[in-house]
Amino acid sequence: MELTATLSKIRNELFYGSSNYTKNQPDLFVPHHFKMLAPSQVDSFVETLKESIKDEQEILLYFHLPFCFSECFFCNSFPLKVDKEIQQNYLQHLLKEIEFFSEYGLFEGKKAKCIYFGGGTPTSFSNGDLKLVIDKIRSSIELSENCNITSEAHPLTISSEKRIAELAEIGINRISIGCQTFDPEILIHCNRSNTPAQIQQIVTTAQKHGLAINIDMMTGLPGQTIASVRTDLEILEKIRPNAVEYIRHEIVNPLVVKLYKARPDLIVEDDTLFEMVYITQEWMENLGYEQNGRFSDDKQWGYRYHWLNEMPIIAFGSRTRSYTKTICYDKHEDLSTYNRMIGKGILPIGRYIPLTKRERMYRTLMLGLQLKSGLDTNHFQGMYGECALDVFGQLLAKLSDFGCITQDSDSIRLTRYGAYFVEDVCDAVIDAALKDESVDLVRGSHSGGHRYPAVTQ
Ligand code: SF4
Repeated sequence: MELTATLSKIRNELFYGSSNYTKNQPDLFVPHHFKMLAPSQVDSFVETLKESIKDEQEILLYFHLPFCFSECFFCNSFPLKVDKEIQQNYLQHLLKEIEFFSEYGLFEGKKAKCIYFGGGTPTSFSNGDLKLVIDKIRSSIELSENCNITSEAHPLTISSEKRIAELAEIGINRISIGCQTFDPEILIHCNRSNTPAQIQQIVTTAQKHGLAINIDMMTGLPGQTIASVRTDLEILEKIRPNAVEYIRHEIVNPLVVKLYKARPDLIVEDDTLFEMVYITQEWMENLGYEQNGRFSDDKQWGYRYHWLNEMPIIAFGSRTRSYTKTICYDKHEDLSTYNRMIGKGILPIGRYIPLTKRERMYRTLMLGLQLKSGLDTNHFQGMYGECALDVFGQLLAKLSDFGCITQDSDSIRLTRYGAYFVEDVCDAVIDAALKDESVDLVRGSHSGGHRYPAVTQ
């Protein structure tokens, strides 16, 4: 990789390496403003929530299914171990939660633009279980035409054609599988196994049944080398899924921290990681794979594309975060609290942030920058009555000096390399939003500090 002046600047001034950075997180995260919500306040909170989406015709729905068969060392979502009884109990409460929102009238006059099953491993539930949720959604809210319904899936759970065909039959039209790397040695360090042949077969079968398919990949995994990344890209190029996402390994899982303590030689140096990010982003750009920083439409990533256009996200399940343009709120992350509150007929919302105008403006900037067209400055002026170039003058000057953004009279956009290192640009926006409020505020790891009981083998 030739280090141009711009790349040197990005690496030296902006790149957060594998530490001190908040994974591939497309939204503004300002946790210091959270307010706790008592059960007695939930009714009035939902009225505020309804008011915040009253002008929206379409919304996004997210369903969290936080169970896995085993824990991958790179994982930052800390799932629960699969357990039929616990999962069935959770499923019943999840269905009730949809009913509660419906009874509050939250879905009246709205359509679901995209539905996303995330986790965990949603496909640790049966197709019949997932159908129950989809049927409940269909009876509660109208779906938009061509509603995109994605489910994340562990490759080992969808190895049979029957399973994939049934997923298509129940209405799922896109699958996102975690793969991360094809290198067998690295996969052992990560407590994973997936061969190119298995992945190829899943992609071919999914596409045969009309399902679009995304493959999640990672850089910075234990023991990963540039040569190994290049081999992964060669394999991916043959498999040709509909979408690929490359993210950096966020080192938060205690299992990988322990591994690194015992085997520091497995840690990927920051300079190597920088090159890995460059290589993978360049490859994606050349093959037309879009991700944060380069989204031009909703073809490859409908849910994410509309999220970045500030469509409200209403999330269901424990430990989920929802956003409207003016409010961010979280469900209780402890499963028993979540179940207990639903059992008592109360929506299990635990805390919320009423976003200040300043935070909303930063959010609009951060989301807009992740679109290929960038932040529409005229739209921003219409929303807030202020000029984005004035509001973010200092930050934009800095990012411009680093060669990450470009601007004209109508928009502020990432440059080619700004898009390659979009995660660092987003972190810089979060840093600026925090420092605007108090110089003492520091960005925290997105997923640090809140851990489900560990999954054991
Ligand atoms: S399959 Fe692995 S990476 Fe995915 S949620 Fe489960 S533990 Fe995390």
